[in-house]
Amino acid sequence: MSGITEEAVEKFLDSNPVFAKEYYDLKFRPGIISELLSTNKTNVDFSQYHTMSSLEESEIVFDLIRGFQDTINTEKCVFSVLKRLSFMIQADRMSLFMYRMRNGTAELATRLFNINKDSTFEECLVVPDCEIVFPLDTGVLGFVAQSKKIINVADVSQDTHFCSFVDNLTEYATKSILAAPVMNGKDVVAVIMAINKIDGKVFTKTDEEMFLKYLNFANLILKVFHLSYLHNCETRKGQILLWSANKVFEELTDIERQFHKAFYTVRAFLNCDRYSVGLLDMTKTKEFFDQWPILMGEVPPYSGPKTPDGREISFYKVIDYILHGKEEIKVIPNPPADHWALCSKLPTYVAENGLICNIMNTAADDYFEFQKGAVDESGWLVKNVLSMPIVNKKEEIVGVATFYNRKDGKPFDEMDEVLMESLAQFLGWSVLNTDTYDKMNKLENRRDIYQDMVSYHVKCSNDELQIILKTKEIYDKPPDECEEDELYEILQEELPDPDQADIYEFHFSDLPVPELFLVKCAIQMYYELEVVDKFHIPQEVLVRFLFSVSKGYRKITYHNWRHGFNVGQTMFTLLMTGKLKRYFTDLEAMAMVTAAFCHDIDHRGTNNLYQMKSGHPLAKLHGSSILERHHLEFSKTLLKDESINIYQNLNRRQYDHALHMMDIAIIATDLALYFKKRSMFQKIVDQSKTYENEKTWTEYLMLDQTRKEIVMAMMMTACDLSAIAKPWEIQSKVALLVAAEFWEQGDLERTVLQQNPIPMMDRNKAAELPKLQCGFIDFVCTFVYKEFSRFHSEIQPMYDNILNNKKEWKALADEYEAKMKALEEERQKKEPIQAPKPVVPAVTGKENGGNVPVGEQAPQSKSCSIL
Ligand SMILES: [Zn+2]
Repeated sequence: MSGITEEAVEKFLDSNPVFAKEYYDLKFRPGIISELLSTNKTNVDFSQYHTMSSLEESEIVFDLIRGFQDTINTEKCVFSVLKRLSFMIQADRMSLFMYRMRNGTAELATRLFNINKDSTFEECLVVPDCEIVFPLDTGVLGFVAQSKKIINVADVSQDTHFCSFVDNLTEYATKSILAAPVMNGKDVVAVIMAINKIDGKVFTKTDEEMFLKYLNFANLILKVFHLSYLHNCETRKGQILLWSANKVFEELTDIERQFHKAFYTVRAFLNCDRYSVGLLDMTKTKEFFDQWPILMGEVPPYSGPKTPDGREISFYKVIDYILHGKEEIKVIPNPPADHWALCSKLPTYVAENGLICNIMNTAADDYFEFQKGAVDESGWLVKNVLSMPIVNKKEEIVGVATFYNRKDGKPFDEMDEVLMESLAQFLGWSVLNTDTYDKMNKLENRRDIYQDMVSYHVKCSNDELQIILKTKEIYDKPPDECEEDELYEILQEELPDPDQADIYEFHFSDLPVPELFLVKCAIQMYYELEVVDKFHIPQEVLVRFLFSVSKGYRKITYHNWRHGFNVGQTMFTLLMTGKLKRYFTDLEAMAMVTAAFCHDIDHRGTNNLYQMKSGHPLAKLHGSSILERHHLEFSKTLLKDESINIYQNLNRRQYDHALHMMDIAIIATDLALYFKKRSMFQKIVDQSKTYENEKTWTEYLMLDQTRKEIVMAMMMTACDLSAIAKPWEIQSKVALLVAAEFWEQGDLERTVLQQNPIPMMDRNKAAELPKLQCGFIDFVCTFVYKEFSRFHSEIQPMYDNILNNKKEWKALADEYEAKMKALEEERQKKEPIQAPKPVVPAVTGKENGGNVPVGEQAPQSKSCSIL
């Protein structure tokens, strides 16, 4: 055997590769592998190669399986397989790439990178922040994932698929590649790749076989992991679905609580650090008072993004769920645009396009600008984001749910998208459900209110009609058998003389006259406006209407028919005596006076806040301007009855316009809206002064519907507050009626709501009335009458009165203060230590020197102690 040279052996082995392979497989490989694996349990006698070979194989397999049992970490298991494999096929490096879908696009991401026989797990594991992502349309990797086949590239420079992107990044020169997909059924789960056969050779067929053989282990591990992940997703999905279904139908509540409950309950299944829900404003058209600034050119029209159904994108509330660290939920009403959850504009984008957006590594995203640095004092950073629209069954986007930072630090994937989407879908449905519930509820509330209305309010009866329209007494027949002329004859007799009754006067006082007389005055005004003939109002209907309106007011201390009438009378006077009529058509003037008469109909003597606090169905029915909307609906209900519909002979366009004006006029009496229209009105007054003459200004304003409506709305306020602009002897009495009604509400707040009323409504603070009146005049009223008298000098009497009334109230306030001061000094002299007894001087006619006279004809409040 000594004659055999090394060269000859090499030559022999080269020409007999099968023999060579079997020889090495049997003789050396198991031993070397065993050594490499340094398994302490391996006790193999290497002298008997043939028997040992299979034993060695199984040792390796067992060793691997033991490893799997010991660790639940997928990456660790795959790492140990690849580490062995890299040695066996003599690859310089091996890597694992995970396959996933994001935003509907497949990609591969590094998970284990550059493994060789000497690597440690820690240095090869790629943390999510550092992963390299490969799209499927480039590189050998992408080709493997797409073709789902093993590929062996001997020289990458000859391969059209190769892309040098990673080489450039890692300063490495790839020469040969062996890569294969890990499959789960027909789906690619991952790709495993070996690079550069050591010693500059190429990967052989034998390497391929070895690669595929050991890939089975990696395959198994990844499959198990993938299945358990899928299982976990399905479980979470199932739990969410089950929960959602239960909750949606089990307890219906308003939309926000529904959202809140939903998101709070599923928080454990949401695999993320934080999530926020932005709720979108659902209003499609703005309220008139919000439209005005745009129509007036003060605010530019909205030009920002809109939802697919045309709504302006406005998040009226953000609910922020913090799941990391100490769990917390924050509700942010009217969030600013730079709120951390909104500042990236991603939720707006989602609301605009209705798309699911999955963004990893937000810091690198250049389309959306996520907050750089910590969002709050907890130091938490936004890393990965999954944002999706919440859509109801009407396909309207009702909100946007955004999930931040998957718990395991990995980017959100397709599974998360599906999972979150199913949750968002359920929320959308629940919204529709609550929509339906709201509607049902509204109907129910509406019914309750109407029943209440009907029981209280009685339409003018035939007998009552005869009190004014005395057809039986005069013609011995019912009104419907009379000619309009005959009815006119009666009314001519019955209705008061406009001059004698002072209906054209700003200083009109209802106090000396009975309520029926006020009904007659109201009827007379329609004749004075010359609208009865013009709009063919049947006179029986006119009488019935105003009689019914007067009955529609409850017999309460202040907001009774007398107040309703006064507001109508002031409207009439502003139009006629104040000469504001010239801007309005006859139809509009009629609608304005009618609105004024109706504006507080069915008032309960308590304000909007009280309706809310007491949970009145009205407050549940109307979101804002609660009572005003009710007065409006009540008025419209009256007009639905043909026997009292004074608009019955208007054509469709006139009818709609009259109701439109009433809508605005009555809602405008909500004092909460007064501050919104103040500056706009002032500008109109300023503008009027820039016109050369009255004629051109009038011609201009008549045609400007928006400005006319603002003037009308301000006229309603001027009418509603007109008691403050009456001569002192009237104002001083009416102020007490207003105060008395407030005190009654204060009593109710104490007894029903068990709350302490505000000073204005606290009868124990009655002595502070003059001071409160001064504040009310300064803060609210003066502006109105000052501007109106500047607008039309004919209105000056109202302004003069308010100036005088301010003086009177101030004197009383000073007097009271002086008295209190004196008492205090007295007390300090006498009892320097003892606590003072409460001093509540009553504001009666006597005690304040007769300045506040006792109302003789005024309706007395049953609970107003100072009258
Ligand atoms: Zn009012």
